[in-house]
Amino acid sequence: MIEARHLTKRYGSTTAVDDLSFTVRPGTVTGFLGPNGAGKSTTMRMLLGLDRPSGGEALINGQPYSALKGPLHHVGSLLDAKDVHPGRTARAHLGALALSNGIPRRRVDEVLDLVGLSSVAGKRIKGFSLGMSQRLGIAAAMLGDPEVLMFDEPVNGLDPEGILWIRNFMKALAAEGRTVFVSSHLMNEMAVTADHLVVIGRGRLLRDEPTQAFIDASSGTSVRVRSPHLSQLAELLTGQGLRPTSVDGALKVVDTTPEAVGELAAAHGLTLHELVTEHASLEAAFMEMTSDSVQYHAEAPAAAVLEEAAK
Ligand code: ADP
Repeated sequence: MIEARHLTKRYGSTTAVDDLSFTVRPGTVTGFLGPNGAGKSTTMRMLLGLDRPSGGEALINGQPYSALKGPLHHVGSLLDAKDVHPGRTARAHLGALALSNGIPRRRVDEVLDLVGLSSVAGKRIKGFSLGMSQRLGIAAAMLGDPEVLMFDEPVNGLDPEGILWIRNFMKALAAEGRTVFVSSHLMNEMAVTADHLVVIGRGRLLRDEPTQAFIDASSGTSVRVRSPHLSQLAELLTGQGLRPTSVDGALKVVDTTPEAVGELAAAHGLTLHELVTEHASLEAAFMEMTSDSVQYHAEAPAAAVLEEAAK
């Protein structure tokens, strides 16, 4: 189990992680999702004792990393696959790690086999592709046969085959009852990998819920309308109690229908250039949730839309 309790990290005037609390449970793959710079790596580094929290606690199985006895037996991690000595062979790299952590040598061959690297065990790491380096990093994480695993953006830069392999591997680890915590900035990837999502933005918790609940809440539809009279239309829609937002020179309106928008425009003699129903993609829902983009609410609709339209 992984726990963040009011976890905070400040770097000078930057608050990278801001009063973050969540629990990651065994038996599931939990996705740690947020745009670049949201604070995912910083959170993971604090959980792994590589960064000291400015406030709060980061716990693995109820203890801070520094208090764990034989930490590799409790938690394995992959933060940066290329952070290895390039001149060593895969077997030598894992052998050194095993030796310094009191892990029997035979475990090296077991984990090489587990990640499918046995045939290149004697090759130098500098010749490894990114996918092979990721597998090596996962092998290292598995050395101590830990209950808790943490992977930071493991599929970044991988080809589809490599992505599929990592996805299935993580699911298999969770099925064995392990706690699997994996970060990504890609919603669609997490939707097919994770059972549960912890979503953060600017260091703060935005969502902590089953993936299906996130998908259900994000699968709404909206109406997209383009018109040369965008600001007038925004004002009229706002007058109807709706909340139009400006997206790429068009208005996006939820909780309405194309019919209602079309009728409203016609009643005021406004020309429309486009009127369509859009189904929200998961990626779009995630972007919207985590972005700082200005929304045009009832307080300041027309002027702001006009400003946007003039850009
Ligand atoms: P993510 O992993 O979600 O992309 P990070 O945890 O890497 O986000 O970064 C969160 C924020 O903290 C960013 O604004 C980043 O610039 C800042 N940050 C991360 N590490 C440091 C550091 N060592 N010194 C100063 N600022 C940092």
